[in-house]
Amino acid sequence: MEKIIVIGNGMVGYKFCEKLRAKAGKNQFEITVFGEEPHPAYDRVHLSEYFTNPSVASLEMAPRSWYEENDINLISGEMIIAIDRANKTITSHKGTTLSYDKLILATGSSAFVPPIKGVEKQGVFVYRTIEDLDAIIEYSKKTKKAAVLGGGLLGLEAAKAMIDLKQETHVVEFAPRLMPRQLDNAGSDALLSKMEELGIRLHLNKNTRNISGDGKITAMEFADDSILDVEMLVISAGIKPRDELATACGLAVGQRGGIVVNDLLQTDDTDIYAIGECALHKNFIYGLVAPGYEMADVVVNQLIGSNDKTFKSYDMSTKLKLIGVDVASFGNALCENETHKPIVFEDNYKGIYKRINISEDGKRLLGGILVGEAEAYNMLLQITLNGMALPPNPEDLILGSRGGEETKMELPDSAQICSCENVTKGDICQAIVDNGFEDVAQVKACTKAGTGCGACNPIVKDIFNEQLAKMGKVVKNVICEHFDYSRQELLDIIKIKKVKDFDQLLDEHGKGDGCETCRPLAASLLASTWNEMILEKGKDAIQDTNDKYLANIQKGGSYSVVPRIPGGEITPDKLIVIGEVAKEYDLYTKITGGQRIDLFGAQIHQLPDIWEKLINAGFESGHAYGKSLRTVKSCVGSTWCRYGLHDSVSFSIEVEERYRGLRSPHKLKSAVSGCRRECAEAQSKDFGIIATEIGWNLYVCGNGGSNPQHAVLLAGDVDSATCLKYIDRFLMFYIKTAEPLNRTATWLNKLDGGIDYLIDVVVNDSLGIAADLEREMQFMVDTYKCEWKEVVNNPELRKKFTHFVNTEIPDPTMKFEDMRGQKKPVEWGA
Ligand SMILES: Cc1cc2nc3c(=O)[nH]c(=O)nc-3n(C[C@H](O)[C@H](O)[C@H](O)COP(=O)(O)OP(=O)(O)OC[C@H]3O[C@@H](n4cnc5c(N)ncnc54)[C@H](O)[C@@H]3O)c2cc1C
Ligand code: SF4
Repeated sequence: MEKIIVIGNGMVGYKFCEKLRAKAGKNQFEITVFGEEPHPAYDRVHLSEYFTNPSVASLEMAPRSWYEENDINLISGEMIIAIDRANKTITSHKGTTLSYDKLILATGSSAFVPPIKGVEKQGVFVYRTIEDLDAIIEYSKKTKKAAVLGGGLLGLEAAKAMIDLKQETHVVEFAPRLMPRQLDNAGSDALLSKMEELGIRLHLNKNTRNISGDGKITAMEFADDSILDVEMLVISAGIKPRDELATACGLAVGQRGGIVVNDLLQTDDTDIYAIGECALHKNFIYGLVAPGYEMADVVVNQLIGSNDKTFKSYDMSTKLKLIGVDVASFGNALCENETHKPIVFEDNYKGIYKRINISEDGKRLLGGILVGEAEAYNMLLQITLNGMALPPNPEDLILGSRGGEETKMELPDSAQICSCENVTKGDICQAIVDNGFEDVAQVKACTKAGTGCGACNPIVKDIFNEQLAKMGKVVKNVICEHFDYSRQELLDIIKIKKVKDFDQLLDEHGKGDGCETCRPLAASLLASTWNEMILEKGKDAIQDTNDKYLANIQKGGSYSVVPRIPGGEITPDKLIVIGEVAKEYDLYTKITGGQRIDLFGAQIHQLPDIWEKLINAGFESGHAYGKSLRTVKSCVGSTWCRYGLHDSVSFSIEVEERYRGLRSPHKLKSAVSGCRRECAEAQSKDFGIIATEIGWNLYVCGNGGSNPQHAVLLAGDVDSATCLKYIDRFLMFYIKTAEPLNRTATWLNKLDGGIDYLIDVVVNDSLGIAADLEREMQFMVDTYKCEWKEVVNNPELRKKFTHFVNTEIPDPTMKFEDMRGQKKPVEWGA
C-alpha cells in the first residue's frame, strides 16, 4: 500500500483525507495525519462561535471516531520537526519517525505579528486557535477595554468577539479604510458607520509604534504621537504561512513566505505536495478555505491516477456577516487597474452601499461590493463568473426591479454554486434527479453544497425548488435553513403563539440569524397578521428595501412619493397641493396607470416633510412601496357616463378604503367598471368588479405585467355587500396560502382544483372557514393606520429618515437632467 503522510490536521488537511478516502479504495493508501494541536481538525471559519458555545466538539470537522472508521491514523498533539527527503521520512518532536511515499504539507498559517516594540507583553493575543480563544476569554475577565489591531476581515470578527466579552472595543487600522483588500472608501465608510453604531470605535490611518505597560499592556502608542489606553490587545494583522519545515528541508519558498507549488500543487520535490494556506501558487497565498479544498481535490485526483485536474487561480469572492452586517465583495471588486463603469447605490442613513463594476462596452459584470444588504450576492457572483449578458437596466441588479417582480436570470449548468465544495448547478440538479431527493438537506448532505461558509445556501434552495418544479414534484416548501416550516405553518405559529416580532419568531421557532429570504417574509406575515406599524423597533430591520423607507427606490437612487387617490377621484384643491409640493421639492410628476399621481426624485431625508404637507391636505400613504393593495381603478360610471349601470367610482372608493394597507404575498391591484364595456380593465386585475343590470360580477386572479392573464368569474350578479364579503374571503384565503411573491394569478394556476375549488371555498364555504376569513379581514380593516401619518407624527420614527451625515446637503451621487421641462435621472453610463 502506498504510504501517505499528511502534516497538519487543519481544515484543508482534514478535507484532503475525506476526499482521498471517498475517491480511493480502502486498501490503496495507508494514511497517517499529524496535527500539532491537541484536537482533531476543527472549523476555524466558525471559530468565533466558540465565544457563545465553548464546545470544541461542536466545531470539529469530524469526531476522532471518523478517522478510526476510515482507517486513518490520526496523531494529534505531535509536531513534525524534520523531513528527510533523501530517505523519505518525517520525524516528530516526540521522536516518532515514519516513512512516506507521498508527503502532503497542509501546515496552514499562523497569525502574523508585526514587529512592534512591546508586542510580547501580557495581555497581547492573536486569534487563530481554540487555545488563543481560551486565553482571551480568561484574560478578559479582568479587563474592560480592548483593542484589535487590524481592520480586515478577521480583525472585525475579533472586534465582535470583544463586544461579546463586554469590552469597550477599539479597532486600530494602518490603512485609511476598513477591509482595504475588499472594500473601496465608500464601502468602508458604510461599514464604519454600522460598526460605530454598534459601539465599536475605529481608528484609521494609525501606525502603532509601541505597546506600553509594565509587564502587561496598558496603552498603544502611535506614530502621530497619539495614545490609546487599553488593557488587552488582539492582533489580527494578517497571516504568515507555516513554511519552516519546507525551508529546513530545502524546498523552495517565496520571498514573503509560502511553499512554492506548481499547478499540480507539487513542491520542487515531486513526492511532496503543499495545499491550503501554506502553499504559494503563482505568488499568491489564499487565505480562504475554498481554494484550500480545491487544492486538496487536485492532489487527490493525482494520487488516484486521474491527472486531468490542475489548480487554476481561484476566485476570492466573499460574503459574510460581520457583527450582523452583510458584507460581500466579488469578482474585480475595486477595479483599480481595469477600465470600467461603476453603478453605485449609497444610503448613508441605513449604512447601505452597493457598487457594481460594468465593463466598458456595458456587456459584462466585472465585480462589485455590497455592504449592509447583500441578498443579490449569489446572483451577481454567478453573472460575473459565467460572463452572463447583463439585463437592459443593469442597475436593477442592485436596486431590484422597479416593477416589483423578481429579476431572475437562468444560470447555466456549469455555474459554480458552492465555491467551498466546488459544486455546480448541474451537480445539484443531477443529485436530485438521480436520488429522487425531496428535501434540500438531503441535497446538501449528498453534494456538500452549502456546507462550507454557507453563503450559497439561498441559491441552493432556489435551484432545488426549480428542479423539483421541472420534475413536476410538490414538496414541503420550507422557507429557508432558518425555519423548518412552510409559509402557511409559520403564519399559523405567528397567530397561535401570538408572536409579535422577528426575534421572538427566530428564538422560539427557528435557528441561526435569519437571512434575506426569511426576514422579509416574516415581516410580511407579521404585518398581515397584526397590522402593526412596520417601522417600529424589532420590525424595521427585517423589511424589504422599499418598505424600510415607505417609498420606492428609483433609478439613480432617489425615492418616489405616491399618495393614495381612491378611485382616481381628486378635488382641484388637492391637485393644487400636489403641484405645490412637486414644485417646492423639484419632483417629477406623472399620472400612473392606476389613476394616481407619482412624484419622483425625492431624497430620504425629504420624505417626512413632503408627506407632512400631503397629510395635512388630507392625503394618505398609497402603499406603492409595499406588497399590499395598490389602487382600485374606476371608470367614471353611472354618475356621468351614458352607459353606466352603477356608480363605479363610489364603489371603487369603498373597496379601496376597505383594503388599503393590507399586506399580502405580492402587490394587489383592483378595478371597478360601470358596465361590460370595461373601461377600467377590471379583468386584468387581482380582483375586478364589473356592473351588471342587477348587481356586480366579481372576477379574480387576473394579471397584467409580463405574463398577462385574464381574470376569471368568481361570482355573478351579487349585491355590493356580498361582493365585499367574497372579496374579504378571497383575499384572506390568498394571503394565508400563497407562496411569497406569487401574484394571485400564479397562485390560482398552482391551486389544486383551480377556479372551481376557489369558488367552492369562497362562495360555498366548503372548508367551513368563511367566517374566520371574514373576521380576520374585519380586524385588518378596523386596525388600519396610515403608515406615513404615524411617521410624520412620531419624532422617533421621523428620525429614521434623517441622514446622520450631510442632512441638508443634496446627495452628490444623484444626478438629474432636464427632459420636457421636468427632471430625470442621468443614465448610469453617461
Ligand atoms: C477567526 C477566523 C475566521 C475565518 N473566517 C473565514 C471565512 O469566513 N471564510 C474563509 O474562507 N476562511 C476563513 N478563515 C480562514 C480559514 O480558516 C483558513 O483558510 C483555513 O483554516 C486554512 O486551512 P489550512 O488547513 O490550510 O490551515 P490551518 O487551519 O491553519 O491548519 C493547519 C494545521 O496544521 C498544523 N501544523 C502546522 N505545522 C505543523 C507541524 N509541523 N506538525 C503538525 N501540525 C502542524 C497547525 O497547528 C494547524 O492545526 C478564518 C480564519 C480564522 C482564524
Ligand atoms: S365601463 Fe361602462 S360605465 Fe364605465 S365608462 Fe365605460 S362605458 Fe361608461
